[in-house]
Amino acid sequence: MFDAEYLRRQFPILETKIRGKYPLVYLDNAATTQKPFAVINSIVDYYTKYNANVHRGVHYLSGLATDMFEKSREVVRAFINADSKEEIIFTRGTTESINLIAHSFSKTFLTKDDTVMITQMEHHSNIVPWQIARDDCGFSLDYLTFDENGELENVKEKILSVKPKLLSVCHISNTLGTVNDIKEIISLCHSIGCYVLIDGAQSIAHKRIDVKDSDADMFVFSGHKVYAPMGAGVLYAKKDILEKMAVYHGGGEMIKEVTMEKTTYNDLPYKFEAGTPSVADVIGLATALSWLKSNDTEELFAYEDYLSDYATQRLKEIDGLRIFGNAKHKSSCISFLVDGVHHLDLGTLLDAMGVAIRTGHHCAEPVMQKFGIEGTDRLSFAAYTTKEDIDIFIDSLNKALKMLR
Ligand SMILES: *Cc1c(COP(=O)(O)O)cnc(C)c1O
Repeated sequence: MFDAEYLRRQFPILETKIRGKYPLVYLDNAATTQKPFAVINSIVDYYTKYNANVHRGVHYLSGLATDMFEKSREVVRAFINADSKEEIIFTRGTTESINLIAHSFSKTFLTKDDTVMITQMEHHSNIVPWQIARDDCGFSLDYLTFDENGELENVKEKILSVKPKLLSVCHISNTLGTVNDIKEIISLCHSIGCYVLIDGAQSIAHKRIDVKDSDADMFVFSGHKVYAPMGAGVLYAKKDILEKMAVYHGGGEMIKEVTMEKTTYNDLPYKFEAGTPSVADVIGLATALSWLKSNDTEELFAYEDYLSDYATQRLKEIDGLRIFGNAKHKSSCISFLVDGVHHLDLGTLLDAMGVAIRTGHHCAEPVMQKFGIEGTDRLSFAAYTTKEDIDIFIDSLNKALKMLR
């Protein structure tokens, strides 16, 4: 069995007392993960030893910072198995990556006659940017629906009949836990010349990511959901797309030459990296990916799935509890509601017992609308989650339900 206890000791925040309770049962990893010493130290190191702006100076510190920044790009490239470092754009996170693509891809590749397809299980950050771009560019926006179990339905029929120019879909739903078969979806889309963008915010920490194997045209994620600091994320796209794609933010670094009349743009990847990047966070991101890779990830991901199965089974023993999302392939999180109990009341009582879960609509209101509910309670897992965490959670849940029903 995977040694989560050993991993757990590398996360200082998990050693703190919250509301007088120890250990902290942190089951809100789909919102953000905690950071191991390795990552925290890499940020402290950066600010204590080599803080300087990158790509800008001839001085020693700037050279060192640039070196570490560019090495981080290589770490990300290797982690997702991209062809080249030019295909790795650093952003602030998934949201910024999708906004960039929605703006720039639309401008370059889409006309009024085209359709972009998303799905009903997307995070708001994979819905709203497309609505904004649609209003700007005039293309049509359509979506795939999901069934009662939280699985996408009529995928083939709908894609073949609508023939979208781009499909943007999450790898794993942050609300339902559904793992979408992206390889099959991508191959179907490619058969009709449709590009595919994968929102990997939930999968980056829980699945092996290989953009060459899946053949995703674009893949985006946030560092903070994979043990890295907030403030840095990634946009991967195939080089030929990035080369053609219109620029997004203008400013320093993304230029080759500026006159008072016009600007020529920099080469990849800098063309899409305007302004001073979040250097420390990018270095923290590379450190987090290296840290994750230094573990046996196959075993780790299997362990997380085991925890998820175990928690599901324990939850199913509770009277009047309904799980939202029962897809055959599930990972990362479990959403549920208990009859007659408001999701917020439950979350608040659990918090008082030292158990952190997420409550609300999880930035996926259309998922709530589909089920006719306002929100759910959600628990989600990480490498440091233990079976004991789940047991404490279930005991606390039972205690809370006694008070609430
Ligand atoms: C968290 C999340 C996002 C948004 O990520 P940010 O870090 O807030 O930009 C998008 N999609 C999914 C599936 C997520 O889980």
